[in-house]
Amino acid sequence: MRAVRWPVAVLAATLALAAGCSSGKSTKTEVNAKAPKFEAGTTMAVLNTAQKITIGTKFDQPLFGLKGLSGQPEGFDVEIAKIIVGDLGIPDSKITWVETPSAVREEKIAQGAVDLVAATYTINAARKERVSFAGPYYVAGQDLMVKKDNTTVTGPESLKAAKAKVCSVAGSTPGEKIKAYVDAAQLVLFDVYSKCGDALRTGQVDAVTTDNVILLGLIDKSGGAFKLVGKPFTSEPYGVGIKKGDVKFCQFIDSTLQKAVGDGRYKAAWDKTAGKVAGAAPTLPPADPCV
Ligand code: GLU
Repeated sequence: MRAVRWPVAVLAATLALAAGCSSGKSTKTEVNAKAPKFEAGTTMAVLNTAQKITIGTKFDQPLFGLKGLSGQPEGFDVEIAKIIVGDLGIPDSKITWVETPSAVREEKIAQGAVDLVAATYTINAARKERVSFAGPYYVAGQDLMVKKDNTTVTGPESLKAAKAKVCSVAGSTPGEKIKAYVDAAQLVLFDVYSKCGDALRTGQVDAVTTDNVILLGLIDKSGGAFKLVGKPFTSEPYGVGIKKGDVKFCQFIDSTLQKAVGDGRYKAAWDKTAGKVAGAAPTLPPADPCV
């Protein structure tokens, strides 16, 4: 029997090595690194040839993009970006992560400072003037976060009567949309959401507004100090921001996302990040047309 099993073991080991399984980590990336063949001149071909990529994400948003002690950002956006990078045939170790707060995302893409942005980035018409989007890969909704004992803020309509000071981020869609519900003096805009969390903790503001899943991440880290109001009042489809008009790159990302649903990478990406707090994995939303 041994004489029969031996070659099978050797074959298995050889296949594992050929597939880049020796480290046990980043298997998919290494497998894919050998495979892709892209049409010359496309962004995919250029990136694959360069064997490196620069990606914009958030560094202070738990569950989606948070730079922790590892020095590497972690979260659902980061995992979505890694799926794309894997299918570009580039190892994760060749990603340069750049922090892209809400207000600088279009600028960074337009300047070519990043190859793509995955950063809780809502697809909308105004942004489409300057960049293109693949996706969406998730749909969030704007909500409010308050201190645990707050009973006066019950939704956006309650903010005026409650005379609540509200914090959001400059250049974000929630920072704009909340203006319909508050007086200018009630609104405080910072550059990143972690500063809003600090302001809520110290009582400088009474509420923070942005996408529900971003707030859930901050609540999760608040040690029970904050709660979600829980009445989402907008739709925020998250896209992957890319250079305006790069239709082939957009189509590549959309088909990669589809593939990642089929082979379980999309669900796995959710489960190991946002899914720990925000419930079951979403269904991949239908892709917008690539323009
Ligand atoms: N999704 C919203 C936006 O893109 C809010 C989150 C953020 O600022 O990143 O503006």
